[in-house]
Amino acid sequence: MHMGMSMRLEQRLSLKQRLGLLLTLRLHLIDALRDEKYEPMGRCPKCEFTLTNGMILHGFNQDPGDYTTGCPKCGVRFAPKLIYRTPASQTEIPFYCPMQVLAQLSNRPTFIETHQPIATLPPVELKKQYPAIYHSAITHYGSLKAAFAKVGLVYAFVERDPKKDWKEKIIPALGNMPDTVIADCAEVSVCIIRRMRRERRIDRYRAIG
Ligand SMILES: [Zn+2]
Repeated sequence: MHMGMSMRLEQRLSLKQRLGLLLTLRLHLIDALRDEKYEPMGRCPKCEFTLTNGMILHGFNQDPGDYTTGCPKCGVRFAPKLIYRTPASQTEIPFYCPMQVLAQLSNRPTFIETHQPIATLPPVELKKQYPAIYHSAITHYGSLKAAFAKVGLVYAFVERDPKKDWKEKIIPALGNMPDTVIADCAEVSVCIIRRMRRERRIDRYRAIG
């Protein structure tokens, strides 16, 4: 979707649609910044209806122990998947909801049996040992640093390659997503994003509803 159109459309959208749109826009930005494509997949095992991103998010029970979403057509609950693609590979993993990601990153013992706190694992190790947590965290929060910050933990590793030209890549997102979301994905301070947006005289993102 062309990002310029999204803001006008958004004024008529329901909460479910807005959740989905914001996720879709975030995934575009993640792809641009990280060269990684994420696609949530929710196909109902009973009636074969394919859920939109918004339906998948809306269908979660906000329960850290329940990994299922609900089919809006027939009501069946099932665990959605996340497809992760790089130029070299394609993987299918469980898709966790934002709450489950945070519960697991905060290392509650019921979720992760590990001797090493998860926040001390470098990105490569975290990705290898806990692929579903890692990829769901990127999907919902844009970076590990941003996801750990949500549970009050400092993640000392930087994932983004500082040599990459991230500024060019975030310009289409300015004003179409909250500055904080863009900052999280780019792993920079929100002040930098706000300044870039104001320099271009772009209004800040507003969720209407
Ligand atoms: Zn169904």
